[in-house]
Amino acid sequence: MFIEIQELEQHPIDFEEEIGPDVLDLGEDFRQIAPLHTAGRAQLVEEQHGKHKIVKDIRVDGSLNMRVELACARCLEPVIQDVSHKFDLLYRPQGTDAGREELSVTSAEAEVSYYQGEGLLLEDVLREQVLLALPLKAICRDDCKGLCPHCGKNLNVEQCACAEPVEDPRWLALKDIREKLNN
Ligand SMILES: [Zn+2]
Ligand SMILES: [Zn+2]
Repeated sequence: MFIEIQELEQHPIDFEEEIGPDVLDLGEDFRQIAPLHTAGRAQLVEEQHGKHKIVKDIRVDGSLNMRVELACARCLEPVIQDVSHKFDLLYRPQGTDAGREELSVTSAEAEVSYYQGEGLLLEDVLREQVLLALPLKAICRDDCKGLCPHCGKNLNVEQCACAEPVEDPRWLALKDIREKLNN
């Protein structure tokens, strides 16, 4: 969905969209497994720059909900996570702020980014917000035992032979002495 400046000059745009898997490129670590749901509003914010110049910003605020699958950080089995995220963003025309620092930010709580040309693709906004909202890692359950560092077996599924505790050779020596003393 393209958010056009020209349309925003007439009225704010309320959006409510379902975005299917594979529309947003989330990289290889995440798989979107259900449609992403988003709702919000885009509106024009006019900023007076100097005496004569009006800069047309686009403010986008809303929320998104989605379900993703990623690998458990310990055992690499798939984990499903629900992600919810709220955003309130301000897009200025590309180049507006080049070499300027005296600008007043219209909305103090809004993050500032830039748009090029006639407007802004909602999908680009969402992709960026999704990447911010995704968990850095997840575990499948609190007591996940992970993979054996030696043989790579999933210890939630089976116990392997390398996990047996190794006896300290110094204690073995003491045990020897004690056995000799006892005899
Ligand atoms: Zn796990
Ligand atoms: Zn092992």
